Amino acid sequence: MENSIKKMLRLTDKYLTIQDVSYETFHQTNTLVIDAVLAPPTSACLTCGSAVRDSKGKTVIVKNGKKMTCIRFDQFNHLPLIMRLKKQRYHCRNCHTHWTAQSYFVRPNHSIAEHVKMKIIALLTEKVSLSFIAKHCQVSIPTVTRILKSLKTYLPKQAKRHLPKVLMVDEFRSHVSSEDKMSFICADGETGQLVDILPTRKLSRLTTYFQTCVNPSDVDYLVTDMNAAYFQLTKKVFPHAKLVIDRFHVIKHMNQAFQDFRVREMKRLIASGNRTMPRKLKSHWRLLTKNRKNINHTEYKTWRSFRAPKYPYLTEAMVLDRLLSASTALKVAYQAFHELADAFRDKDHESFFTLLHQLPETLDKEFRLKLQNLLSYEEGIRHSLIYPYSNGKIEAKNTHIKTLKRVSYGFKSFENMRIRIFLTNQVIHVK
Ligand SMILES: [Zn+2]
Repeated sequence: MENSIKKMLRLTDKYLTIQDVSYETFHQTNTLVIDAVLAPPTSACLTCGSAVRDSKGKTVIVKNGKKMTCIRFDQFNHLPLIMRLKKQRYHCRNCHTHWTAQSYFVRPNHSIAEHVKMKIIALLTEKVSLSFIAKHCQVSIPTVTRILKSLKTYLPKQAKRHLPKVLMVDEFRSHVSSEDKMSFICADGETGQLVDILPTRKLSRLTTYFQTCVNPSDVDYLVTDMNAAYFQLTKKVFPHAKLVIDRFHVIKHMNQAFQDFRVREMKRLIASGNRTMPRKLKSHWRLLTKNRKNINHTEYKTWRSFRAPKYPYLTEAMVLDRLLSASTALKVAYQAFHELADAFRDKDHESFFTLLHQLPETLDKEFRLKLQNLLSYEEGIRHSLIYPYSNGKIEAKNTHIKTLKRVSYGFKSFENMRIRIFLTNQVIHVK
């Protein structure tokens, strides 16, 4: 019977004896109370090393009463569970020291069982707030924070940090450090494994950081988006690395440039007295950037902005023709945009840059300038069309960090946030 209770509580200490199980009220809640005794046999003195009996057969180590402790466990069948544990005390007659019996499931001078700590650590790897964990495990928030901080020792050491062959870098809004609003994140481009998180994205700090890593010269590819100045890292720290710009950001930049142009063109049309066409351009903005290969030529249907009786049924392609007839500038821009987009989708970097260098003279000036901005990233964009690496995995991580930040209602300490991000990414394993 007693062994069954121990089995249910997952306690394997053979010197632990369960004496009674009862219901009591603690802090106005019904609580399951287990009375137990921990009494291992006497052993040699820890201070002076005396054996239990000396050579003359006289007892040196004697039992010396019991110490009453209260240990909090995890809930049992939705009922708070505590153990009133009597720990055996011992006395050494040689050196007059006293000590108390200890067991693996609770540390000396602690009142929270290791089971609870394990549960807290398991919950810390999930996207939940610290207050939720505290409530769920019936401990205080400082206890949870303390356990979180104690995991710091599991973090990988800077001096031993190996950089991967493909390094993805990005930034995310953290709001925790006073020196920089944005924090820096980098990960392995092949496996998606998190490499590190830094409180700042300042180039000087990043340079010293990467220089202290074990193998900065082993980084072959640096994957980044277009917003930041991380290319300079390739010159300073990673001399052998090829810069790869994330493809998604190139497409995004082109789309944004085209949409900006469309809005300007609409305003121009409105100013020239055309009321209906701008509205149509607005409602069909998606059609204008749609891949030309996927435009439907066969299916006739009704359109909200092209109504009967003037337009009874139209296909997607016919609607597009009517939209482009709004102005020649739009037609030219549409043509240029899609030629570029097609070349990009086909990963044909030669024709992409030829097109970019030879944009038509009639193209809207601002739109043209924005597209030509891409030329300053020529090398990175070329590499992005040659090599298969992209920043997708790190963007996914950023989304997870955002969720974590939201469920925790923000972070106060960068260090705690870093440990939690490492935990949720399963970079540190706690046994
Ligand atoms: Zn002793």
